[in-house]
Formats: sequence, structure tokens, C-alpha cells
Amino acid sequence: MIRWLIIALAIFLLFKLFTGDKKVKEAKGKKQEEKLVASGEMVKDPVCGTFVEKDGPIRIRSGETVHSFCSYECRDKFLKQLEASKPDQEKAE
Ligand SMILES: [Zn+2]
Repeated sequence: MIRWLIIALAIFLLFKLFTGDKKVKEAKGKKQEEKLVASGEMVKDPVCGTFVEKDGPIRIRSGETVHSFCSYECRDKFLKQLEASKPDQEKAE
């Protein structure tokens, strides 16, 4: 009977180890993301807030600033906002 208890305990410990490991990995991933943002390799999508590569395929230039987007949907939303605020704004792409 005690054998089953030990097996159950072992499974529980393995499970804890696995979930704990996952949390560490998530934290590391977030740290890596922060590092990339700090170094300027990643920028925030100004529409939805997702972090995207600075040199990603979807970007527009607004004056001196280059904005990167996670999707064309976000880019279009941003362009509409730009047009609403500054109708004669120079647009790239
Ligand atoms: Zn987006």
C-alpha cells in the first residue's frame, strides 16, 4: 500500500518540477523580449501593443519615426488614425 503512496508522491513531484520549469522558461522568454526591446531590435505595435521585430515586413514611416506592425490590419488602423489627425502626412508603402 505504501508503494502506491510513494509512486503518487513521485508523480506529484515530477508534475511540480515540470510546471515550475515552464514558469522559469516563460520568465526567461519575457526577459529576452525586454532585452530585445531595450536594444531596439523589437518595437511595440502602436495599435495593439504586440512586440514585433523592428525590421519586420509590415512597417510605415511617419516623418522620422518608423512604426512596425504585427499585421496589415493594425497598419491600416494606424494609417487611418494618421489620416484623421494629419491629412497631408507622408506615407511609406
Ligand atoms: Zn498589431
